[in-house]
Amino acid sequence: MTTTAPTRTADVCVVGGGPAGLALALCLVRDGHRVTVLEQSARFDRSFRGESMSPDGVWLLDELGVLATLRERGLLTVERLEISEGGRPVLRTEFDRFRYAQRFPMEIPQPTLLRTLSEAAAEHDGFTLLRGQKVTGLIEDDGVVTGVTHRGPDRPGEVRADLVVAADGRYSKVRGMAGLPATVRPLERDVVWLRLPRPDGWDPASYRIRLDGDRHALFIPTHPDDVRIGFNIPKGGLRELRGDGIEALHRRIEALAPELSGPLRETVTGWAGTTVLDIFTTEVERWSRPGLVLVGDAAHTLTPILGQGVNHALIDGWTLAGLLEAPLRATGGRRRALVDTALLRFQDRRRRAVRISRDLQLRQERAFTLGGRVAVAARSGLYRALGSSGRLQERVLGRAYFQLQPQLGA
Ligand SMILES: Cc1cc2nc3c(=O)[nH]c(=O)nc-3n(C[C@H](O)[C@H](O)[C@H](O)COP(=O)(O)OP(=O)(O)OC[C@H]3O[C@@H](n4cnc5c(N)ncnc54)[C@H](O)[C@@H]3O)c2cc1C
Repeated sequence: MTTTAPTRTADVCVVGGGPAGLALALCLVRDGHRVTVLEQSARFDRSFRGESMSPDGVWLLDELGVLATLRERGLLTVERLEISEGGRPVLRTEFDRFRYAQRFPMEIPQPTLLRTLSEAAAEHDGFTLLRGQKVTGLIEDDGVVTGVTHRGPDRPGEVRADLVVAADGRYSKVRGMAGLPATVRPLERDVVWLRLPRPDGWDPASYRIRLDGDRHALFIPTHPDDVRIGFNIPKGGLRELRGDGIEALHRRIEALAPELSGPLRETVTGWAGTTVLDIFTTEVERWSRPGLVLVGDAAHTLTPILGQGVNHALIDGWTLAGLLEAPLRATGGRRRALVDTALLRFQDRRRRAVRISRDLQLRQERAFTLGGRVAVAARSGLYRALGSSGRLQERVLGRAYFQLQPQLGA
């Protein structure tokens, strides 16, 4: 006996329940629209993903009405950024110097973020979240995307909607299904992540970047009392790293952070607790076609520098929802045309802000790979100049961190 796939209808069908998809869904259901989110994973428990939230992202979470709950559930506020080169400090920035309502980055575990966004959305009638459902294809009508097919553990299904949103992340399959070409640019490094208990006396309110020639590591305070470490390896260099054994990994980190030796050797006894982030950026020429739009990493994958990925994912969701508000209230044939125009406006509005972050990150990526004595000295000089000039800090860091919120007293 053949069973026909159950068909649901929604105003908007979102593929992917990450930060972009859930922020969009929350904003839309608050405005009274019907949204179905399809998420292939059955749970929100991701580790080593998007915990660093930039100040604009924090501001937006407040706008979305979830910041207070996130604070109750546990997060860390980061007050400063310190960069050292060959063991010597070259830059220290106190985020308190910036004049914005939310001036501090925060470390928010991604499972907590996703649970909080989805619970806030679930307070509204129009919200449906189907977990364990992988989107397998697009439904099209005369060149217009009108829905998706999906498959879960039991049987396949369909969702028909006025708009399909691909919020399916850095390896977006929906982008390919929609025929929207992407340029993927691999960068020179990959990053290996691991996590340790934070030793006593290790300031939990500092981001630390430690450089030594062409080697570097980020040390990020992590809720509740850990430190996340991300260190660079050459692109595709995991096999070689592993070949050198775990002792070589210990020595590698100890060279940059000798004070972490104890917890490092106690906690990281094998490769199981490590994960590799393939560093690349993705640029997409056209973010939409009739009936479908890309948001978040699917539209623009960034590098981990300055925690920009989640930030832009959230802002995408919020911006798109604002632009769709009136079009989704229209009826008849006008609705389709208005929605598609809103999609073009969305790309116009977001592309520039993403480019600013990407350009800053790419400059940093290049600086991180410098190895020669002269180049390293020039890099240190630049960081020192940045560290000693408040105006320069405002220009450089301010451009990445404060694109959205109004300046206080401006
Ligand atoms: C190891 C690592 C560390 C990172 N650290 C940081 C950080 O500290 N700060 C920061 O800002 N950013 C960080 N990022 C980047 C950040 O995680 C992303 O930029 C952000 O999560 C993008 O949000 P998104 O909603 O666009 O995509 P994602 O968070 O990737 O969400 C996409 C969702 O779509 C689902 N999905 C995919 N395909 C399908 C399908 N066919 N059907 C149904 N569902 C599907 C996935 O399961 C996933 O839940 C990190 C990324 C990685 C990999």
